[in-house]
Amino acid sequence: MKLTFPHMGTLAIPLRSLFEQLGCDVVVPPRTSKATLEIGVKHSPEFACLPLKITLGNLAQALELGADTILMAGGVGPCRFGFYGELHREILKDMGYDFRMVIVDPPQGRIRHIVKVIRSFLPPVTVRQVVRACRLAWVKLTCIDRLEVLANRCRAFETRPGAVSTALDRTLSDIDLAESQEEVLAAYDAGVKRIERSVYADGRPDVVRIAVVGEIYVVLEPFANHSIERTLGELGAVVDRPLNVSHWLKLNVVLDLINMAGGVNPGKLARPYLLHGVGGHGRETIAHAVSYARAGYDGIIQVAPFTCMPEIVAESVLHRVSREQGIAAMTVVVDEQTGEAGLVTRLEAFVDMLRRKKAARSRLVSV
Ligand code: SF4
Repeated sequence: MKLTFPHMGTLAIPLRSLFEQLGCDVVVPPRTSKATLEIGVKHSPEFACLPLKITLGNLAQALELGADTILMAGGVGPCRFGFYGELHREILKDMGYDFRMVIVDPPQGRIRHIVKVIRSFLPPVTVRQVVRACRLAWVKLTCIDRLEVLANRCRAFETRPGAVSTALDRTLSDIDLAESQEEVLAAYDAGVKRIERSVYADGRPDVVRIAVVGEIYVVLEPFANHSIERTLGELGAVVDRPLNVSHWLKLNVVLDLINMAGGVNPGKLARPYLLHGVGGHGRETIAHAVSYARAGYDGIIQVAPFTCMPEIVAESVLHRVSREQGIAAMTVVVDEQTGEAGLVTRLEAFVDMLRRKKAARSRLVSV
């Protein structure tokens, strides 16, 4: 059996580690590229959302490399994610591929069912092996998430353009190669030092703080969002993103296994603007916007796939949040037609506007 799964940001690093430790042969799809997108666009329904198209391209490329088993997350709720697995299966079969599809639905308290699904494709393993594999994957995941947070905070202060991103990329590949928790932690420590060495110690006065919110796939996948965090950082913005894979796994797998998916409730913050969940991360987008406004951030950027219903609803509410909470907001809608140059121009204008607003505010305070 040769197992594969689609990319989503850096998720392939802990996933590969997990399944290799459990004795699987893993085929990681080639890094997402224009070729990946072209395959996805060619074979997907025109109005499918961008994540479906890109992940379809990932899977087709992995099948070309010899993968024969696909692992996909399932979903529940009003958004289209719940159909992704089935759609991928049908489209890839029509494309002539022969493979087995394993769809892991959200556990919703059904631990036995999840264990049964996972055991259906894993080779025989001991409990000890499972614990070791899960621990190693989790350490990799949390280290990666922390490094990305650090890089997003530091890019605005880097000594030369791209220095922080280069340090981050090198550390990510060290973590990918690490085979024990000790090696992961050593790579992490070295990575933190490397990133800290790439920035000026005394900061810069004109820095602005921006949060990137929106639909989880396009927020986490640099190919889909045209590396928005890197661009903003290099334009002099300190960036924060509330969504990351370890947080998502905690909510949707760990807590959901014991039927406590509602443990962290975005409803409270979003309630004045959005009473009900709208699927995907629509309500979280609003809750995050409110929370960043209260934390004194200068701006919010919502990243949303074209035709994504949850984010369309969130966008329509975001204007009111922006007005009432006093935070500038911008929506970036991405699809296969989005051009990088146009996006960079919009981001430059947004950062510039925030900088001017901030300077005007501090002039007012000093008068
Ligand atoms: S949240 Fe939006 S982009 Fe993501 S799967 Fe649902 S509809 Fe598609």
